[in-house]
Amino acid sequence: MSAGKFARSLGIRHLVCGSCNGCELEMNALAAPQYDISQEGWSVVASPRHADIITVTGPMSGAMRLAAQRTIEAATEPVVIVAVGDCATGEGVWCGAGSAGEGAGKELQASIGIPGCPPSPDALREGLRAAATLLDGRNS
Ligand code: SF4
Repeated sequence: MSAGKFARSLGIRHLVCGSCNGCELEMNALAAPQYDISQEGWSVVASPRHADIITVTGPMSGAMRLAAQRTIEAATEPVVIVAVGDCATGEGVWCGAGSAGEGAGKELQASIGIPGCPPSPDALREGLRAAATLLDGRNS
């Protein structure tokens, strides 16, 4: 894949919207030596204002709905929302259970979905690369 403008300087803000933490464990692996996303120039940022990509996990819990919407509103364009895992894409085991929603990525209109329960680090990296390509298109 060719390296676009964003491919080597992504700021990633993560939102947990009712995940069981399985997806987060795999995302944490991206910082481990085998994957080490810092070598790609990617970093996790604390503010949505600094984010190029917002990753979301979980079916969307009621407690997180308003906070998640405010986080998305606080982001500056261009930004790409990525649904991580089956729950976020609306296919997960927790979707529609109790007060859970039908997928955080669905509710927040994610442009990219990374399937899996949980997705592997390789799948996560490929999904983030796809998001970087999408960002390049929006910024050109
Ligand atoms: S997709 Fe699987 S691992 Fe990820 S939050 Fe849902 S149940 Fe947990």
